[in-house]
Amino acid sequence: MDLNTVTALRRPSSPGEIDSWRDGFAWLAGGTWLFSEPQPAIDTLIDLEPLGWKALDVSAEGLEIAATCRIVELYHFEPPAEWTAAPLLRECCRAFLSSFKIWNTATIGGNICMSLPAGPMITLSVALEATYTLWPRNAPRREVPAIEFVTGNHTNVLRPGELLRAIRLPAASLSKRFAFRRASLTKLGRSAALIIGTQNTSQDDLLITITAATPRPVQLRFARPPAAEELRQALDRAIPMGGYFDDVHGNARYKRHLTYHFAEQIRAELAQPGADR
Ligand SMILES: Cc1cc2nc3c(=O)[nH]c(=O)nc-3n(C[C@H](O)[C@H](O)[C@H](O)COP(=O)(O)OP(=O)(O)OC[C@H]3O[C@@H](n4cnc5c(N)ncnc54)[C@H](O)[C@@H]3O)c2cc1C
Repeated sequence: MDLNTVTALRRPSSPGEIDSWRDGFAWLAGGTWLFSEPQPAIDTLIDLEPLGWKALDVSAEGLEIAATCRIVELYHFEPPAEWTAAPLLRECCRAFLSSFKIWNTATIGGNICMSLPAGPMITLSVALEATYTLWPRNAPRREVPAIEFVTGNHTNVLRPGELLRAIRLPAASLSKRFAFRRASLTKLGRSAALIIGTQNTSQDDLLITITAATPRPVQLRFARPPAAEELRQALDRAIPMGGYFDDVHGNARYKRHLTYHFAEQIRAELAQPGADR
């Protein structure tokens, strides 16, 4: 859609060129949300594409994803064989309500900064214990654990003008076992619940990440694999009855049901000895 309040487009070659920030400015990534509805509060778009960040960088530490990496680029990434949890990258890319146009244009950073409950790049990075590198305007960069970034439906810890630069997935998390569950009311629809479990290869722990069913990610960390009842009680404590996200993609009671159902399936799946992931 035409954004008729926007009167300027800036294309900096480095973020330092944007040395002051004011209301009305917005970073432009893929633009799939920015151009999907009127943006009366925005008069200037600042395009991130000319910054030319390398999309994906593999090292012994893990995978660094530039905020400007597109969903389609992550989908086609060929991970090292020892990253047993890497199939989650594609699973989460597929977990969008999206046409091919969204897929080819939307960025990982744009999805995280939108901070919607059903943001699959949030699920992916929280489940894989990522750290985000943030570049504030006129202040030193800071590192934020992914689980602390989203604070509610469409809210996060970004300060005015602060840029999400990169998402770092540690090799240790990428080398874990995993189980993935997702439900959506419609085929290719927005997720009603998107839940991931990960576990050390020695199978002596369990990390369950709950998203889409709740306004912000909820994570349950167990120092040893829990029994079914222990998991239920942990869910009871972590998410009160009123803590589920009620919207057109599923009411709160339905999402609560899915959360308990999928979390137990994940627990049982990862409890199986010798399962290959
Ligand atoms: C048909 C349709 C279906 C969709 N389905 C889903 C879905 O299933 N789940 C979902 O979560 N979203 C969905 N969206 C919303 C949106 O398209 C996605 O979240 C997408 O990933 C946003 O990425 P983008 O690169 O296009 O962001 P943009 O539209 O460019 O930007 C989104 C917001 O993030 C800010 N931003 C972008 N990059 C940065 C950065 N690096 N640092 C700081 N701020 C930044 C922008 O200023 C803007 O406020 C959908 C949208 C449409 C139109």
